[in-house]
Amino acid sequence: MSLGRAIPLWQEGVQLNATTRRNAVDGIVESDVVIVGGGYTGLWTAFYLKQLAPQLSISIVESKFVGFGGSGRNGGWCSAFLPMSPNEMSAEHGAQAMRFLQDQMFATVDEIARVAQAHNIACDFHKGGTITSASNPAHVERLHHYIDDWHDAGFSNTDMSWESAEQISQRIHVSSTLGGMYSPHCAVINPWKLVTGLARAVESLGVVIFEDSRALAIEQRRVVLEHGEVRAKWVVNALESFTSQLPAGKRKIVPLYSLMVATEPLSESVWRSLGWTHRETFADGRNMVTYAQRTADGRIAFGGRGAPYHFGSSISDSYDRNTTIHGRLEQTVREIFPQVADAQFTHHWGGPVGAPRDWHAFANVDVETGLCAGGGYVGDGVALSNLVGRTLAHQIANTGDALTRSALVNHQSKQWEVEPLRWLGVNSLLALTEYADKAERRTHRPMKRLLALRDGLLG
Ligand SMILES: Cc1cc2nc3c(=O)[nH]c(=O)nc-3n(C[C@H](O)[C@H](O)[C@H](O)COP(=O)(O)OP(=O)(O)OC[C@H]3O[C@@H](n4cnc5c(N)ncnc54)[C@H](O)[C@@H]3O)c2cc1C
Repeated sequence: MSLGRAIPLWQEGVQLNATTRRNAVDGIVESDVVIVGGGYTGLWTAFYLKQLAPQLSISIVESKFVGFGGSGRNGGWCSAFLPMSPNEMSAEHGAQAMRFLQDQMFATVDEIARVAQAHNIACDFHKGGTITSASNPAHVERLHHYIDDWHDAGFSNTDMSWESAEQISQRIHVSSTLGGMYSPHCAVINPWKLVTGLARAVESLGVVIFEDSRALAIEQRRVVLEHGEVRAKWVVNALESFTSQLPAGKRKIVPLYSLMVATEPLSESVWRSLGWTHRETFADGRNMVTYAQRTADGRIAFGGRGAPYHFGSSISDSYDRNTTIHGRLEQTVREIFPQVADAQFTHHWGGPVGAPRDWHAFANVDVETGLCAGGGYVGDGVALSNLVGRTLAHQIANTGDALTRSALVNHQSKQWEVEPLRWLGVNSLLALTEYADKAERRTHRPMKRLLALRDGLLG
C-alpha cells in the first residue's frame, strides 16, 4: 500500500517555517516559573497559574513548536475517562478519593468548552458522548462486565449504560453491532486548533513561549538548554512521552506509539447512510485500543494502538508511519464502515503516548526543590491534561483547594524495567493483546486467561 500525507490531518495547510516560529532562548532567561513542553499540560498549567497568581512571570520552552507532540496530533477525544479504572483507584486511594477525581473529570470536559468559548478558541468542540460497539459476543460480555464495575463503584446509567443493537444503530450504522456502551462524558475537538488557540490565550495573559528551545536537563531552579538556560523558582516537566528522552527519565515513562488514518471528506449520501449525526466518539469493543471521530469537515479519523515499542524507549519521526499498522487501520475502517469502501485515505500519521509503569497519571509538586511534573496519561491526555495543569497551578499558587489533595497529587509510579526486559515486556503485552483479539474473533469467547496473563505482566 502507499501511504498518504505524513502530516497529522489537523496540521494540513499550516505554515510551520522559520518565519512563523516563536523566538528561541539564546542566553540566560529569568522567570518565576519555567515550564518545559509546549503541549496541553504546559499550556493549561500556565493558563491556570495566570488566573490564580497573575503576578508570577512564566516562560514555556518547547523543543520544536507548540503542538508538535501528542497535543497537536491526537484523535480529538476529549474524554472524562482516566487510564486508571474506578476499582483500581478505590483500591489505592479509597472510594471517596476515586469519586472526587472522577467527578472532577466529568466536569473537566465542560471546563474545556468554557475556556475555549471565553478565549475565542474555535476548536470544533462538540459534546456528543462516546460509543463502544460490540461486534462479537466476547465484546458483549466484556462491556457488560465493565459497565457493572462502574455501577458497583457508585456510578449510574446516566454516566454509562448498555444500549441494544437497535439503540446503537440509531446513533451510527456500523457493519455489525450486538449493542454497546454509551456514555455522555466525552466530546470531540480539533486538537491542533485547541493547542494553538490555547497558546495564543496564554500569551495574551503575559506568558512567554520559546520555540526551537530543547531542554537538555531539568534541574532544581533551572532548565539547561542547547543555547542557554532558564532560571526559575519553579521548574515544571510537561514533556509526557518525551520525558523518556532525558537521561533521568528513561525508566519513568515508556513511549507507546498510537497511529491514525483519515479518509477524504465523505459525501452527503455516505453520511446519510452512516448516521452518526451527534458526532459521538466511537470505539470498537476489541482489546486493542481503537478510537474514531467524525471530523468537523466530514471525514472519519480513526486511530489505534499496536505499533511496536522501540528498544531503549527511543522516539523517532520515522516511527510515526508503519505500513503494516496503517494498512490494518484502513482495513478495520472498511470492515466497520462498509459505506466507505471506496473512499481514499488521505493522511497516515502517529506519535508516542506516555505510559508510566502503573498507568497512573500524576500532578507532582515538590515545594522544597521547586521541581514539578504532570503527565502519565497513556493516551487519555486531552481532558486529563486540563485537570493536571489546574492541579499543578493550585499547588504552586498554594491555594489549599481540594484539588491539591486529589489522587493525582504526588503520585510516584515505580520505574520501568531496564532493557532488554522493558522491550520484551512491552512488546509481549502488545502481542498478547493482538493474539487475544484474533482468538476472540475465532471463538467468540473472551480470552480471560490470556488477558489475565497480560495484566499479570504489568502487575
Ligand atoms: C496519535 C495519537 C492519538 C491520541 N489520541 C488521543 C485522544 O483521542 N484522546 C486523548 O485524550 N488523548 C489522545 N492522545 C494522547 C494526548 O495527545 C496526550 O496525552 C496529550 O497531548 C499530552 O499532552 P502533553 O502536553 O502532556 O504532552 P505533548 O503534547 O507531547 O507535549 C510535550 C511537548 O514537549 C516538547 N518537547 C519534547 N522534548 C523536549 C525537550 N527536551 N525540551 C523542550 N520541549 C520538549 C514536544 O515537542 C512536545 O510539544 C493521543 C496521542 C497520540 C500520539
